[in-house]
Amino acid sequence: MSEVLEELHEECGVFGVCHVEDAASLSYYGLHALQHRGQEGCGIASMDHGVLQAHKGKGLVSEVFYPSVMGQLKGDCAIGHVRYSTAGGNEIENVQPLLANLTKHKFAVAHNGQIVNAKEMRVYLEAQGSIFQGSSDSEIILHLIQRAKGTFLERIKQAFSLLEGAYACLILSEEGVFAIRDHNGLRPLSYAQFHDGYLISSESCAFDVLSGTLDKDVEPGEIVWFHPNGVTHDRYRNACETHMCAMEYIYFARPDSVIDGINVHEARVATGVCMAKKDKMAHLQADIVIGVPDSSTSAAIGYAKESGLPFEMGLIKNRYVGRTFIQPTQKQRERGVRMKLSAIEPIVSGKRIVMIDDSIVRGTTSRRIVQLLKEAGALEVHVRIASPAITYPCFYGVDTSSFEELISARMNEQELCAYLKADSLSFMEISDLVSSYQTERLCTACFNGAYTTGLFSYGDIIKTFLSHKE
Ligand code: AMP
Ligand code: SF4
Repeated sequence: MSEVLEELHEECGVFGVCHVEDAASLSYYGLHALQHRGQEGCGIASMDHGVLQAHKGKGLVSEVFYPSVMGQLKGDCAIGHVRYSTAGGNEIENVQPLLANLTKHKFAVAHNGQIVNAKEMRVYLEAQGSIFQGSSDSEIILHLIQRAKGTFLERIKQAFSLLEGAYACLILSEEGVFAIRDHNGLRPLSYAQFHDGYLISSESCAFDVLSGTLDKDVEPGEIVWFHPNGVTHDRYRNACETHMCAMEYIYFARPDSVIDGINVHEARVATGVCMAKKDKMAHLQADIVIGVPDSSTSAAIGYAKESGLPFEMGLIKNRYVGRTFIQPTQKQRERGVRMKLSAIEPIVSGKRIVMIDDSIVRGTTSRRIVQLLKEAGALEVHVRIASPAITYPCFYGVDTSSFEELISARMNEQELCAYLKADSLSFMEISDLVSSYQTERLCTACFNGAYTTGLFSYGDIIKTFLSHKE
């Protein structure tokens, strides 16, 4: 594995509260609703009359925060973070928010995503005298803001104009909360009016738990400043377009979230409908449709609706097993999938099954499920993937690992079908995704290599891969 790919890769989620009493408690509920975006660590920072406090730790929101801690986090402004990292990147120094507890101007930063020119920025900042504590990109943001000149808003503008990448960032200071989204709109960030203040979140599902109503998305390249007198909109970059990460709709986001105006459940249902239409035309014969819980349930419902086949609960998930995807060895990942999913024999036995999954990365999940279903007596298993084949790595904060680990970068559909021991396999086309979601404003780089940013040091990975292919 290359040196670059051993670095942190994270998804994460951010939540902020501005000018609402007991902001830290509200952040707790917000982060709880975003727990699916990261389970390795979490933190909340709050501001109380110029005093910046924080609590953070490794583990789930319900494990890290308890009543005595919440009582200490006072104030009407707060930001929080849930963290997802690979096995090697879970040091406590990287758990956010990160604090700049300066004598003159205290602030805290929490971000979700990845800065593509982080390496270059670190070299530049270290040459200027900055000393880094961990490997989180948030530390770069902290140093850039500290080194910039002017009002705090101007310093934020200067800092972000130097960054390239995919991020949703929240900054807490005595002046309020600042919400910043990358200029390609790769990561989601939206806000809601709440009592006399605001809630800001990676996903709108966190507003719903607090009975807030989604107001707007932060625009790509925009800085939204929430302060005691209202909201100020500014930009660190003009003429920006949205390229929302397609994997947010496919896998990461909760189905009840609305991202850039699109309901995630409805988008997934539409992919199921699309796959069923194609299978109808190909005269695929099957008895039941099942989805891999939970992220594939919506697409399976769509498939069933269009095909007329019954949607059945052929697989059951043990909710208390962590995410198998991030286990460090293949053996541990396989054991994880076995512990996580079981087939319901009376449902699948003797049946020709259409099995919907949201994506294939290494192939561990799909291969194990086909085996489970066949062991439980399934006659045929037709695997339908509600996304295109992942053939390129992501450098935008998503742990889709290296080329070597992406099975679709090594095998074509036929070879992969044989590897999965499935009776048939098909992926969606990118154009199917666009028509299902009814938007072209998507990042699809992990399917076609069309990265929306410069790749800086990551470009070498692509060059090496393509030269091996030739
Ligand atoms: P794999 O078993 O390696 O093929 O992983 C595919 C499964 O992992 C899919 O069923 C998804 O539900 C899930 N998945 C896809 N992308 C990611 C990701 N970036 N992080 C964590 N899980 C993922
Ligand atoms: Fe999302 Fe793929 Fe783009 Fe990464 S490359 S941001 S996973 S669509």
